Amino acid sequence: MTPEEFRRAGYAVVDWIADYWTTLGQRPVTSAEPPGALAAELPDGPTAHGEPVDAVLADLDRLVAPRLTHWQHPGFFGYFPANTSGPSVLGDLVSSGLGVQGMLWATGPACTELETAMLDWLADLMDLPERFRSTGAGGGVIQDSASSATLVATLAALHRAGDGRWRAAGVDRRYRAYTSTHGHSSIEKAARIAGLGGDGVRQVEVDPATQALRPEALRAAIEADRAAGDVPAIVVATIGTTSTTAVDPLPEIGRICAEYGIWLHVDAAYAGSAAVCPELRWSHAGLEYADSYCFDPHKWLLTGFDCDAFWVADSGELIEALTVLPEYLRNTATESGAVIDYRDWQVPLGRRFRALKLWFVLRWYGVEGLRAHIRSGVALAARFADRVRADDRFELAAPHPFSLVCFRLLGDDAANAELLARVNATGRVHLTHTRVDGRYTLRLAVGSPHTTAAHVDEAWDLLAGTAAR
Ligand SMILES: *Cc1c(COP(=O)(O)O)cnc(C)c1O
Repeated sequence: MTPEEFRRAGYAVVDWIADYWTTLGQRPVTSAEPPGALAAELPDGPTAHGEPVDAVLADLDRLVAPRLTHWQHPGFFGYFPANTSGPSVLGDLVSSGLGVQGMLWATGPACTELETAMLDWLADLMDLPERFRSTGAGGGVIQDSASSATLVATLAALHRAGDGRWRAAGVDRRYRAYTSTHGHSSIEKAARIAGLGGDGVRQVEVDPATQALRPEALRAAIEADRAAGDVPAIVVATIGTTSTTAVDPLPEIGRICAEYGIWLHVDAAYAGSAAVCPELRWSHAGLEYADSYCFDPHKWLLTGFDCDAFWVADSGELIEALTVLPEYLRNTATESGAVIDYRDWQVPLGRRFRALKLWFVLRWYGVEGLRAHIRSGVALAARFADRVRADDRFELAAPHPFSLVCFRLLGDDAANAELLARVNATGRVHLTHTRVDGRYTLRLAVGSPHTTAAHVDEAWDLLAGTAAR
């Protein structure tokens, strides 16, 4: 494809995306087709000779788009949002066009330096503790996902807990990780990958009123493990749990971690974005105790997947844990010690220029634009919660500090599961569920920039109307 051919096809693709966004609200949110529907319509292999991009676009309309779950749909209220935006897509397009592989500072100096700057910008914007800034011992990096951030934090924690022996010898003692019973599944996955085994994760009980980790129960679990000769290595606390957006009490957890010398990782994958708003920063109180912290701009901050912002208070420990320097990567910039080589901050060697999409997003929206997006989500969730509260057939199942509302029909699990299935079958909205205190609970998570009060009201009308029948 020549640059001129690319220019023409590129305009057509941008038009296609703009049309997709414009017509999103008229599409069913999810596909009703059975598994295998797309595979059955695809040819067995590529054509012998190339086809024009127009032919591919036509098949996107015919084959692909009708079989998607439309995450940017204004009626998408499932899981957590994975929102994107025009500036994010454009930044990613530039990254693809540049095709820079930023494993070392030397393999694309601006790729590394823009990333460091964006993570410092974000730290300022969210008023994160001073120790995470690159101006001191700490610093930030973009990971593909919060799961990778938890894995990397676990590896650094093992390095610390192993007194320097872990790097060469691996897990030779009974290391333990701690999180609440609502900690994300990626914590157990990280423990398995790191060699602790799933049983190495202690799931600490939560306060039934808040669904947040109980610090006394954490202390008791740590004491019991130490008495048994085990080694507490890492605590993963959550700001905004996946089930209900509970906020673990960081000040108490932080003091316990400091007392025992345990690595504290704070997972704020979804709710971290809220900290761009001063009035929501209460959720980050106690973060000064954390050794590492992450949140996903790809969930609620208008930056397309994949973009997880991860900070450490002491980058030296992380680098020591992960660095391996083969001859073919040696270069004078690395040896000078004056540059960051982000390959040492993550699991893979190679990395994309993901800071570009953040830069485009931060500059397009500005601080106030990002705040307006978060505030709109919080207000729409509160609006929906008011409807739930006002209808005596329903109840709220947990507090709703951010843009997620957990609620249920007063009735058994089967009635709630049926309500969810019937409402989703309309194709107008998509909600998902969880279990709170063992009971089937519906979740409505607001986050698409296309969602307005009318869409949230429509979701409520569908729920209330279906429950009546
Ligand atoms: C969504 C979520 C994750 C996982 O996010 P990825 O970025 O997809 O790995 C981890 N922790 C919490 C609390 C989450 O809500």
